[in-house]
Amino acid sequence: MSLRPTVDFLLYDWLDAPSLSERERFADHSRETFDAVLDTCERIAREKYAPFNRVVDTQEPHFDGEKVILPQCTHDANRAYAESGMLSAAQDYDEGGMQLPYTIEAAANGFFGLASVSIGSSLLTKGNANLLLVHGTEMQKAVFARNEFNGRFSGTMCLSEPQAGSSLSDITTRAVPDGAGFEADPLGPRYRLKGNKMWISAGEHELTENIVHLVLAKIPGPDGKLIPGTRGISLFIVPKKMVDTQGQLTGVRNDVALAGLNHKLGWRGTTNTLLNFGEGKFPVNGEAGAVGYLVGRPHEGLRCMFHMMNEARIGVGTAAVMLGLAGYYASLDYAKNRPQGRPMGPAGKDVAQPPVRIIEHADVKRMLLAQKSYCEGALALELYCARLVDEQHTGSEADADEARLLLEVLTPIAKSWPSEWCLEANSLAIQVHGGYGYTRDFPVEQYWRDNRLNMIHEGTHGIQAMDLLGRKVLMEGGKGLTLLAGRINGTIQRAIHVPEFAAHANALGQALAQVGAATKAAWSTGEPTDALANAVPYLQAFGHTVLAWVWLDVALAAHAAPASSARTGRLAAMRFFFHYELPKIGAWLQVVSSRDQTCAALPEEAF
Ligand SMILES: Cc1cc2nc3c(=O)[nH]c(=O)nc-3n(C[C@H](O)[C@H](O)[C@H](O)COP(=O)(O)OP(=O)(O)OC[C@H]3O[C@@H](n4cnc5c(N)ncnc54)[C@H](O)[C@@H]3O)c2cc1C
Repeated sequence: MSLRPTVDFLLYDWLDAPSLSERERFADHSRETFDAVLDTCERIAREKYAPFNRVVDTQEPHFDGEKVILPQCTHDANRAYAESGMLSAAQDYDEGGMQLPYTIEAAANGFFGLASVSIGSSLLTKGNANLLLVHGTEMQKAVFARNEFNGRFSGTMCLSEPQAGSSLSDITTRAVPDGAGFEADPLGPRYRLKGNKMWISAGEHELTENIVHLVLAKIPGPDGKLIPGTRGISLFIVPKKMVDTQGQLTGVRNDVALAGLNHKLGWRGTTNTLLNFGEGKFPVNGEAGAVGYLVGRPHEGLRCMFHMMNEARIGVGTAAVMLGLAGYYASLDYAKNRPQGRPMGPAGKDVAQPPVRIIEHADVKRMLLAQKSYCEGALALELYCARLVDEQHTGSEADADEARLLLEVLTPIAKSWPSEWCLEANSLAIQVHGGYGYTRDFPVEQYWRDNRLNMIHEGTHGIQAMDLLGRKVLMEGGKGLTLLAGRINGTIQRAIHVPEFAAHANALGQALAQVGAATKAAWSTGEPTDALANAVPYLQAFGHTVLAWVWLDVALAAHAAPASSARTGRLAAMRFFFHYELPKIGAWLQVVSSRDQTCAALPEEAF
């Protein structure tokens, strides 16, 4: 079973990706160039990533007192990725990039997630460098971003602290001006940082010459106190090793020290670190304090950081999808080969007959089709969102603005829906394997462990749900929600005329109306505590409605294709979603609409 036919179908038969080459920015591209990128990534993932997925799980990163040691395969995979040019694929030709549409980049990166999600951490490096391209000075771009895109340096995102995860307003890392001439440093206004950053992925390793940390910290007010809330937060580049204006290492180590490695449930190929900034372990010019260069204006750090969030969240969602698909493919293969049990005939089971393969049992087919419908549907959603990112960057002013608003509403779903449901797919993949799925002799338990992260990082499930119901569906007078409803209604209008899809089109119309009514009912008292008490059931119902829409739209494209097993499978996955999944939204929306306080009102002592 291969991912490629599904990717090709979604990109070419559904999203019409080659039409992107009508845009000036992508004029040199065509289906041929897109295929060449997909071929290369598929090959590197097959050769340098997939064979080592278990190695990086069992040979966890360790610290020898001086350096963090990673298996050789991790070095090889990272080098192969950098040499492929994928780090800068979306960048301008002038920057050494290929001006590749993000839609193709996102699809191509999928192959790496499928093969070994944790062996590489290129998404962080790209996100870091992209942020600098938007908010950095020319010098910061040349010294830091360019060396990240060419693979010399890697990047991190340092937001979380031990006491501040979901609530970044509570960070306490301090940044104070570094001496009298601090503003004149060619690399940017120079500060000294002190504080601890927790959970920093790829925070310490020897994979690259240098590590560029992007760090959120607070510049104290005139009274020396930290400004409460997110207003006081600024953003800094803190290189692990000091560099000159040519991007060369000066030989001086910056005051950033590894305090410890976190030992994780999964995703073990990537180091995860507690970093101490400015504790004096590596004094610079004889002084404690990590040297950091301000990015953008003071106190606008969170705004700069969140600039890249849509793409980061599409990246997390895609990773969840790929882990889900990896489990689906493994369990499909297992189900085709495992003999067990006999079919129940009118006279019971005929024990004289040989056992059948488990794929012949209806319940196993249910578990396989559930995985297919969750994961292929979610892949379609991620690629749809990636296409909106391209629209936002290259469409007309009106189209770009529409894409921006749609992304605002869809991004929490793109991040969270696969995190929950492709994880459920991984659980079903274990179930299909029976007892063997629970052992380390088969890969499915690792996929589940790796995927369990995705509901936690990049904004937890609960935080994404509150973002959706508390902010995104309300913003700009509910315009994003109206636009999304318009797109869903467009699909309904096309599907209603296809007899095979008319009932599904009606069901989707009802689901959309239910979500709209629940949104209003949740906010009918105007009290955030009433509305948001059931934000997660709202996210689940909203997400299921979006997925049903995506599946119906994909089914319209499948319907137009010639008969094939793949077409039959896609139409069945759509039907599964409508028959087994969409009806669940009634229960979720019931508690939302009634502003049910069963959980919120329960006193602590009653637990
Ligand atoms: C493997 C891994 C890699 C990571 N990589 C990075 C990284 O590279 N850079 C980085 O900066 N961070 C990183 N993180 C941190 C991650 O973003 C945080 O773990 C996450 O934001 C949650 O913060 P927390 O762990 O402090 O949990 P908390 O914020 O304490 O949350 C605990 C629980 O309480 C809930 N909760 C919290 N506040 C509310 C609220 N107001 N209303 C309702 N429920 C709430 C949450 O949803 C969650 O279920 C990583 C984490 C992990 C595990």
